[in-house]
Amino acid sequence: MAATITVADKAGACFGVERALELVRRTACEAKGPVHTLGPLIHNPQVVEALSCEGVSPVTEPEDAQAGSTLVMRAHGVTPQIERRAQEAGLITVDATCPYVKKVHVAVARLQKKGYEVLVVGEKGHPEVEGICGHASNARVVGSAAEVASLGIGRRVGLVAQTTLERSVLRSVVGELVGRCEELLVIDTICSATRERQEAAADLASRVDVMVVVGGRSSANTRHLADVCRAQCGRTYHVELADELDGSWFEGVKAVGITAGASTPATQIKEVRARVEALCS
Ligand code: SF4
Repeated sequence: MAATITVADKAGACFGVERALELVRRTACEAKGPVHTLGPLIHNPQVVEALSCEGVSPVTEPEDAQAGSTLVMRAHGVTPQIERRAQEAGLITVDATCPYVKKVHVAVARLQKKGYEVLVVGEKGHPEVEGICGHASNARVVGSAAEVASLGIGRRVGLVAQTTLERSVLRSVVGELVGRCEELLVIDTICSATRERQEAAADLASRVDVMVVVGGRSSANTRHLADVCRAQCGRTYHVELADELDGSWFEGVKAVGITAGASTPATQIKEVRARVEALCS
């Protein structure tokens, strides 16, 4: 009897990344001149290569693109300064910033305007965090409660989080701040996409004989997803591409689960599913 093959709910790229991919592809079809993304659109070499075949290439700085070309801002978002530089360089800009990230931009700008000292809980240097800080000149980034403990804090503090932050980190930072300021306003800007993907993967992994996790080996979130699955299913394999799948993994297996990291588009998941089906039949 052939094995049952199940793809986990929420497997692969989140809404914001799929939306950005779609926007870039549409732009590549419609634009007259060259199309660039500011940095690689997604940390997935196969996708970046496929996009380059469609005429889309990444640039590091807006000034690296020729005047008249189109520059697409990634799902992570950018600072207003970058947007200005793109306009000054004579580029046509397309904003693929995830709407959830946009909400954080609006939130920090509003907090600053209302006189709050802005704290962003997240990873220093991460492009999303840099983009957020660009929208409030008084914003400071903190990575943990321990870091907050050593900070001088004002009377009124407004807190937001990087969208992919683990909620336990936000909770511990809030706990550290309580009692240190007179007013603490917390806007929970964490996006549930990552947590939902992990929970669905763990649930599926606990019910199958073999679990396949699809995504770049250099993708931190895919590796983490593979660890989450391995904790439930010892026979968990992390592959980048369908042709890495080995028939011996599926011998005598009754149930196979598939999930994928945030930088894996739906097309790659389909290819892996088709290959697993072929190997199991
Ligand atoms: S905010 Fe959520 S949906 Fe948007 S890009 Fe980030 S993880 Fe994806």
